[in-house]
Amino acid sequence: MLSNYHTHSHYCDGKGALREYVEYALAHDFKALGFSGHAPVPFPNKFSIDQAHYQDYCNEVRSLQQEYAGRIDIKLGLEIDYIPGVLEDFGDLIASGGLQYTIGSVHLIPHPDRTEALRHMERGVARPQADDRRGMDIANELWFIDGPRQETYDEGLQRIFHGDIRAGVKAFFYQNNAMIERNRPTIVGHFDKIVMHNKGRYFQYEEHWFRDLLYETVQLIRETGCMAEINTRGLYKCRHDDFYPAKETLRHMNTLGIPVIVGTDAHEPANLDRFEGAFEFLKAIGYRNIVSTLSC
Ligand SMILES: [Zn+2]
Ligand SMILES: [Zn+2]
Repeated sequence: MLSNYHTHSHYCDGKGALREYVEYALAHDFKALGFSGHAPVPFPNKFSIDQAHYQDYCNEVRSLQQEYAGRIDIKLGLEIDYIPGVLEDFGDLIASGGLQYTIGSVHLIPHPDRTEALRHMERGVARPQADDRRGMDIANELWFIDGPRQETYDEGLQRIFHGDIRAGVKAFFYQNNAMIERNRPTIVGHFDKIVMHNKGRYFQYEEHWFRDLLYETVQLIRETGCMAEINTRGLYKCRHDDFYPAKETLRHMNTLGIPVIVGTDAHEPANLDRFEGAFEFLKAIGYRNIVSTLSC
């Protein structure tokens, strides 16, 4: 039974209307489809839903839910960035949007010493306009670890962490941990994505300090009862040679019984069924706790 709950659209940085995703899903025998546009953030950017269009997004998903009821189970969700000092509590977005689920993800990392300064800046941003100078000040404090360009990753590492990869990676995992503890997202998104642009240059996945940080986050996921995503986007975009999290981490997660859900992080309708062998892998290792549909 096919499903996918990690889906973007033209409302954020994806291509295509919500309806096109629904039609693609129906044509490929999906039973469930969740929309998880990038949550609005209070600074200029090219990836998130504009605050001014947030309610339109939620309303359109709800109207498709009604229209397609009985044919496919559509859920209203959001992929929310946890950013210390800037976006720490998911409650307002959940309540104002009437969300049914959340994917909590970290794409943007400030220096931990700057949290208070960021909190101050965030209060100064006039919502819903995210494009004023104070918004730019916030954007300049963030290391963007995602996106297509390795140069962006390298530049941010220098600018925010003066090239100290261990400090940057530690901040990434601590940010994930704080997000999980505070917000208990339905799904913890791609929690080792910090490796994507590393490409073995700054550190190896097997290094002890990296493994310790990674497993600490895994342990926290287990303790809080969240489910973890298996994200396939790196594979079909040829940006990474593994799932997020990596296969060896998934083997470890299986010993802890952590529930996992496969998401393709679709940014166009044809990405919806790019599962890249995830189910075959899970079957091969006898993964015990696979979630296929959300009952929210
Ligand atoms: Zn993401
Ligand atoms: Zn995403």
